[in-house]
Amino acid sequence: MALDGPAGSGKSTVARLVAEKLGFFYLDTGAMYRAVALKSLRESINCDDEPALTRLAQEAHIQMVPRPSLPPAVFLDGEEVTEPIRSAQVAERASWISQYQGVRDALVKRQKMLVEPGGVVVEGRDAQTVIAPDAEVKIFLTASLEERARRRWLELRQRGEEISFEQVVAQTAERDQRDQDRSVSPLRKADDAVELDTTNLTAEEAAEIIVRMVKEREHQMATKGEDL
Ligand code: C5P
Repeated sequence: MALDGPAGSGKSTVARLVAEKLGFFYLDTGAMYRAVALKSLRESINCDDEPALTRLAQEAHIQMVPRPSLPPAVFLDGEEVTEPIRSAQVAERASWISQYQGVRDALVKRQKMLVEPGGVVVEGRDAQTVIAPDAEVKIFLTASLEERARRRWLELRQRGEEISFEQVVAQTAERDQRDQDRSVSPLRKADDAVELDTTNLTAEEAAEIIVRMVKEREHQMATKGEDL
């Protein structure tokens, strides 16, 4: 199944919970862009050097290891980078390098191979359109701007960052605009995706709804198979 949505829609937590409940592998494609971003920072590669960044994306050895009730552990060239890839600097660099077609092609190639056998929850910008266009269930998670900003604000406060709620609302709106306007893989709901509004849902509730959808779909496919 493929899942996407704007910043703060709860997609990462929901994707992980769905994967846990179904016994699927959770493929966090953003973590792969972050790992390449980290490698490029460590190797002091200029963020405008598309050929070097493409090479890096082709060569980086990235592994994701599921952990119960936690986001997957991420390894870059054999070293655990689960925490370092979450820094603001890496996020910024990941967002920048993900514009390059060469970088995307290198990562998408691997992502397609990983989803091929099925039993995967793939989360990311192009999950429903490029990586897994034939996914049996496609979900686009949304939530109101205020609710998404509230979630982000709580997260930042937990990390000890001093920022006003109004500032986070403004930042979230700005990020939405950038995500929708970008020319390469802009954020948009696939035509055949189901939109799920999580404004008034916990991540657990949203995950339960999606699990039911996947099971219904599996049931439909099994009975269709019997009819043939
Ligand atoms: O989702 P996350 O914040 O971890 O993604 C890191 C960066 O990689 C984001 O800026 C996002 O735009 C980019 N990305 C992407 N395509 C994906 C996943 C993430 O361009 N499939």
